[in-house]
Amino acid sequence: MDQSKTAVIPATLYVVATPIGNLRDITLRALDVLAAVDVIAAEDTRTTKHLLTRYAISKTLFALHRHNESALFTKIAGLLSQGKTVAMVTDAGTPAISDPGGLIVRFVREQGFKVVPIPGPNAAVCALSVAGISNPHFLFYGFPPTSKGPRLRALANLKPHPYSLIFYEAPHRILECIADMMEVFGSDRRITFARELTKMFETIHECALGDAHAWLEADSDRRRGEFVLILAEADRPKEAELSEQVRHTLQLLMHELPLRQAVKLAAEISGESKNRLYSLALSLQPHPGS
Ligand code: SAM
Repeated sequence: MDQSKTAVIPATLYVVATPIGNLRDITLRALDVLAAVDVIAAEDTRTTKHLLTRYAISKTLFALHRHNESALFTKIAGLLSQGKTVAMVTDAGTPAISDPGGLIVRFVREQGFKVVPIPGPNAAVCALSVAGISNPHFLFYGFPPTSKGPRLRALANLKPHPYSLIFYEAPHRILECIADMMEVFGSDRRITFARELTKMFETIHECALGDAHAWLEADSDRRRGEFVLILAEADRPKEAELSEQVRHTLQLLMHELPLRQAVKLAAEISGESKNRLYSLALSLQPHPGS
């Protein structure tokens, strides 16, 4: 792989990830691209100017409208069709992840232009990396709905998923969001707060949902800044406990039904494999002569 400075390809849109706090978290390739492109579409031109100044990059910027990405379609397509290079950045992290960018990328690709990702920081992945979760499967949800009813419904829909759940949440909604999570997932579910990642007051705190409110209330600073919330997956029933329940169900059924039918029904009730239950049933049968 060539490690020399990245040259940009004419008529290309670069989707560039930028830091989520610490400005040194920008990649060398991102800096190469931002310095080399003709123009930068930025969610907030002041925020991006601050980043560029830090790295002595001076560039033409134009605003990427959060609620009206399509307003930029013609402008970007015009630039690309002249062979110009465009970088797209948001205020923090990876564009199009709970941020604008997705519609522009789709449009530009549909127009037949090249789109190149420049990977880098993302708050969800950063938080997950320090949450101490070993299950490789997780579900990134982003921001929950802002009002109670829809939020409770959204959380209830997520409940059956056997994965860690990753949310973004605004500081002024953190308490109500936690209260709703408690209502849906129960007080034992573990939650990790990843707050102000890569910044001076970075905080990583894990506790039971039942203790989360008290932790947040104990210090008003804990409710400030930016948050990623990670709900760990529910504890699975332990093998021994499961066996006890299943054993009991199977025994009851074996009193009433022939062995094969009892096994079949117990498998349907418990979700356990028929083979495992069949072996258990055989071991539970009275031995001849005993
Ligand atoms: N595109 C960004 C990314 O790749 O992570 C996310 C942008 S979204 C509009 C902003 C939300 O991301 C914040 O409200 C917060 O939930 C989360 N976030 C961004 N920076 C963060 C940080 N430094 N620490 C914790 N959460 C952060």
